Amino acid sequence: MNKFLARANELMDEMVADRRHFHRYPETTNELPMTVKYIKEKLVAMGYEPQDCGTMGIVALAGGKKPGKCILIRADMDALPMPEETGLPFASEHPGKMHACGHDFHMSMMLAACKMLKEVEDEIEGTVKICFQPNEETFGGAKDMIDHGVLENPKVDSALAIHIGPFGEPGELTFGKGPNMGSADGFDITVKGKGCHGAAPHSGISPINIGVHIYLALQEMLAREINAAEQCTLTLGTMVFGDGATNVIPEIGHMRGTMRGFNKELTKFMVKRTEEIVEGTAKLFGGEASVEWLFSSPAMDCDPEFTDEVVKYAAEVVGPERMIPKKVRSTGSEDFAYFGDAVPAQIFWLGGGYEDVSKRISNHNPKVLYSEAALPYGAATYVHCALEWLKNHK
Ligand SMILES: [Zn+2]
Ligand SMILES: [Zn+2]
Repeated sequence: MNKFLARANELMDEMVADRRHFHRYPETTNELPMTVKYIKEKLVAMGYEPQDCGTMGIVALAGGKKPGKCILIRADMDALPMPEETGLPFASEHPGKMHACGHDFHMSMMLAACKMLKEVEDEIEGTVKICFQPNEETFGGAKDMIDHGVLENPKVDSALAIHIGPFGEPGELTFGKGPNMGSADGFDITVKGKGCHGAAPHSGISPINIGVHIYLALQEMLAREINAAEQCTLTLGTMVFGDGATNVIPEIGHMRGTMRGFNKELTKFMVKRTEEIVEGTAKLFGGEASVEWLFSSPAMDCDPEFTDEVVKYAAEVVGPERMIPKKVRSTGSEDFAYFGDAVPAQIFWLGGGYEDVSKRISNHNPKVLYSEAALPYGAATYVHCALEWLKNHK
């Protein structure tokens, strides 16, 4: 058995305790005071000197005593703004907040990884930069940490993340190569018309009419302006016009949506065309409309060479039979993509399927369950991959 997997098995009770603590007290976005305090105290007790990075990010360094490169390993810390319905004895005690994306696992695996790295610190051939990232779910955290210098001092040469999933067997690691998770761009369209009595529509300008035409034109852009060989989508999730009256043409309305894709140039084109269609359509009917871009995350692009290498190392931890290449790209998004745009990177999807297969439910569901049997695999994979990569890139 890989020595870090054996050590992680010994740290199981501590990882379970950490995970259940994080699960019981979930925090969201950048508002993570309890979570950050807990992690920092643990790091200090292990002998680290954790540093703040950006809004609520934490960075700690392991190694650096021997010369070499720097690999970053990331865990995200935020929960989701949703009530929990798992019935677990350690279910959320923060109303309306839940770790329904497994980030509680990521933090506890990373803390165990930190402990193991400290135990072998003198042997590290270079530096492991440990990164606890806030605000993954609304795609702000990774960029914020990069803007605040997480990739500098020492300069980061590669990056690895692990994300747990509720379906695979515990210990399975699924990986993609190249662009394999979609970009995400969220938008809010404001449509302005001229309010009037519903019996005299000619005396006003209906923002609803403009909105409906914008909706259709955006779908026609997808159908008629984009090469059918591309994978992309544009979805409107909200259209709000009027206040419930039958006889009032409202003054204003909002449409909100998201676009996903794998091709940066195409995303740029879709952004530009969305703005043109929105503004042009409103003008056509005598109104005004504009687009506000709410968030953006690039497609997760996993460097093929780096992937091949860390897959080899991860296989030494979980066994080659548990390494599973992704068969299809996913349109789900991850802001670890910002790291992947800056340096060679990989994000492994760690199987965390619950023992009872009938209870395996998608993440972001209030009843999602993850198996704690996955914890040692994640912790050991972080450490073994990081140290082997450094050894090989002296
Ligand atoms: Zn999520
Ligand atoms: Zn997540």
